[in-house]
Amino acid sequence: MFEHLNAQAQDKIMALMVEYREDPRDTKVDLGVGVYKDPTGNTPVMRAVKAAEKQLLEKETTKSYTALGGDPAFVKALSGLVLNGAVEEGRLAAAAQPGGTGAIHQALELVKMANPDATVWVSDPTWPNHLSIIKHLKMKMTPYRYFDNDTRAVDFSGMMADLGNVAAGDVVILHGCCHNPTGANLNMEQWKEVTELLGAKQALPLIDIAYQGFGDGLEADALGVRHITSTLPESLIAASCSKNFGVYRERTGLLMAVSPDDKMKAVTQQNLTHLNRQNFSFPPDHGARVVQMILDDPALRTEWETELEEVRNTMLGLRTQLAEALQARTGSDRFGFLAEHRGMFSRLGATPEQVETMKEKHGIYMVGDSRMNIAGLNKDTVDILADAIVDAGV
Ligand code: PMP
Repeated sequence: MFEHLNAQAQDKIMALMVEYREDPRDTKVDLGVGVYKDPTGNTPVMRAVKAAEKQLLEKETTKSYTALGGDPAFVKALSGLVLNGAVEEGRLAAAAQPGGTGAIHQALELVKMANPDATVWVSDPTWPNHLSIIKHLKMKMTPYRYFDNDTRAVDFSGMMADLGNVAAGDVVILHGCCHNPTGANLNMEQWKEVTELLGAKQALPLIDIAYQGFGDGLEADALGVRHITSTLPESLIAASCSKNFGVYRERTGLLMAVSPDDKMKAVTQQNLTHLNRQNFSFPPDHGARVVQMILDDPALRTEWETELEEVRNTMLGLRTQLAEALQARTGSDRFGFLAEHRGMFSRLGATPEQVETMKEKHGIYMVGDSRMNIAGLNKDTVDILADAIVDAGV
């Protein structure tokens, strides 16, 4: 039987992690895998998460199953964090998922059930897992222009021209904030234009929001998703708590589906629950419960928001420091985009050869498309990276 299996392509980021671990140089810098790291290179358990877990340890009386769609209190708390009332409860169906990845997978399965012919539109570039999930589900896919390699900003006219070709019933994946891998994001005017276009085309947006609070703040990062979901009759939102609560391995996420009215919401909710039952039955609860406790307890919530702001400001500080270090070395502002980008990532715009040179000569590990995890830096390694960028001729 198993002789009929084909080898699967190795995940490039995982391979890079192994290479980094085996590099003996103590000046090496890991800008690869997408987890937040503090200045000492540690991915901490957030203070509010630890405190909530302590409470849970004492108070939890059962590990029996929750609901198929997850604990309703979690669904309410997280949908509140993302949407903040932008969508009436009567239109919002939702089900907890194992991480943002689970939510995206389940969203696309729902689309496939409703419209097997739908084409899924993805930004070029996008998070590679979007592409592999779409392929795994055997759905049609078309990229739309997104990143301008010269300015390292959003190629908005290219994006709008390409999205002009979406058909009714197609799905368009949008990153809610902190675009992965580029770091370049839509402004509010652009969100409005995209919303109008998708409305006119009767296309369905699927908003992947995995970094709320990592860009311009918890509220500002959700303005795009709130605008689009409150304007269009239907939309899907895949939210992840992995980064903003630092609960990566707990697999905590939520799929939300906005319907035009409460009748359609009820059917959509049944379908979300059905999909959970087929794929994994009950979603994981530990991370979800911790997130719900934090969001619903004013003291824990304040502690969490404070730490999240520290994380966000650390990354912003590193961005400014790197842009200034490059300004000082090159005498030009051409790396100013690093301070404009938001979130954990920036696409540097280096060639594969330059990425290889930075790794071989300087021990800088970034993904082959020159995506850098800004949180992999600290104030001492910024200069090592700036030297490497200049030396590689980027
Ligand atoms: N979407 C994007 C764009 C991401 O970068 C990630 C995390 N790498 C996710 C979704 C989901 O992550 P998780 O499944 O760990 O919640």
